[in-house]
Amino acid sequence: MLDKLRQHVDISEFSNFRTPSMARYFFEFQDISELWQLQEILHYCYIKEIPYLIIGGGTNMLFAFDEYPGVVIINRYKGWSYDDATSLLEASSAENISDIATILEREDDQYLWHRFIGLPGTIWGAVYGNAGCFGLETENNFVSAEVIYIPARETRILQKQDMDFSYRSSLLKEHPGEYFLLRVTFDLSQKIEKYASDIDNIYFREHKQPKGNTCGSFFKNPSREQSAGYLIEQVWLKGVKLWGAFFSEKHANFLMSDGSATYEDLLQLIEEAQHRVQETFSVSLVPEVRIISFPH
Ligand SMILES: Cc1cc2nc3c(=O)[nH]c(=O)nc-3n(C[C@H](O)[C@H](O)[C@H](O)COP(=O)(O)OP(=O)(O)OC[C@H]3O[C@@H](n4cnc5c(N)ncnc54)[C@H](O)[C@@H]3O)c2cc1C
Repeated sequence: MLDKLRQHVDISEFSNFRTPSMARYFFEFQDISELWQLQEILHYCYIKEIPYLIIGGGTNMLFAFDEYPGVVIINRYKGWSYDDATSLLEASSAENISDIATILEREDDQYLWHRFIGLPGTIWGAVYGNAGCFGLETENNFVSAEVIYIPARETRILQKQDMDFSYRSSLLKEHPGEYFLLRVTFDLSQKIEKYASDIDNIYFREHKQPKGNTCGSFFKNPSREQSAGYLIEQVWLKGVKLWGAFFSEKHANFLMSDGSATYEDLLQLIEEAQHRVQETFSVSLVPEVRIISFPH
């Protein structure tokens, strides 16, 4: 069955770090007419224990391999609608969340998602990692999601209470490889936030965050008092370069590639930061970005 898929495809461009990487098998999910094919591939991989990797915007994953040994699936399932009367937003998983937030303001006078303007990545990525911007979190307005439950090869509806949302996590992240998210419904009628913030997120992203080959904040913040960026700066790694890999001068928790970094360079720098922070502060830095490596 996998023989029909494209093989040995260059996927370097699909992760923001742009490290050189290939896929043994490759499938592009374009729209719902290909749902049966997608379900078949996922289920086949699941029962045969062939690894599969699903990519949305690729803004939160580091490819730590030369060639992915299984199937890489690029999700391009797009489309969204907003109903003024009910304030319900329905979006397919490959839609860019920032684009939706921008258009909602421009065309619908709907400002509830303002803080998501500038957040890289897709609807799926936001739900999967419960992405948050200055107090606004994806879970806040989440109602339900239509998913493929891969082990049973069926589509299901998950309600908010099924999702186990927590800081940068959800049921989908806790059970990797079991769900493929298709569509999500959000209720934008009520402002709900984790904490209030009057930060100008557009200015902040433009001027305070580095641009380039990065997946944003690399490590989770151990606490609000001790941010990962502060700890990295304290152990003298801010701006330090290891071949093509470095932590940004502008924001020390932004791991970057100058375009020439291999995944080995990036991993070495990650380990160095974890080691130094552990030695100096007895704090373990946990990656927020998913590192995809073999053996798992
Ligand atoms: C400059 C910059 C700033 C950032 N700022 C923030 C911020 O303020 N707040 C924040 O929370 N995050 C931030 N991020 C991180 C990133 O934007 C979010 O984590 C985003 O939600 C990831 O979305 P994505 O579509 O790129 O996910 P991807 O990286 O493509 O995928 C994430 C995970 O989902 C899996 N996956 C993808 N699609 C599917 C699917 N349909 N079904 C099943 N599994 C799937 C992947 O295998 C992977 O494990 C930032 C990143 C950058 C580069």
